Amino acid sequence: MADKDCIFCKIVAGKIPSGKVYEDDLAFAFRDISPQAPTHILIVPKEHRARLTDFGEKDAALLGHLLKVINIIAAQEKLEQFRVVINCGEDAGQTVWHLHVHLLAGRAFGWPPG
Ligand code: 5GP
Ligand code: ZN
Repeated sequence: MADKDCIFCKIVAGKIPSGKVYEDDLAFAFRDISPQAPTHILIVPKEHRARLTDFGEKDAALLGHLLKVINIIAAQEKLEQFRVVINCGEDAGQTVWHLHVHLLAGRAFGWPPG
């Protein structure tokens, strides 16, 4: 179910333009509007879920699918080294309340993250 006020639901529905890099029945991926690395792609489930903790036992396959999509995109974009991030909650840095996986590549990343 889409949330009518959710910007990522609007992107998935094509109501807001995005740099789409991948789409299948369950997932949609597009370029981040404010990239934090030379490659910065967001992978989202098409179904609206606000945050990672909203996913339960029955969603295990969907979460696994999102990780599989990362490998598909990495191959498509010829990425061999990359970072994958999910921010869950304000303190973690989440600003958009539709679960998204960040795929970042093209530079070296520090650890721990800020
Ligand atoms: P968060 O901070 O919630 O983990 O990540 C949200 C991400 O969404 C940010 O990196 C931000 O730049 C990106 N973003 C926010 N609004 C839009 C938008 O309208 N289009 C695209 N492509 N990215 C967006
Ligand atoms: Zn949404």
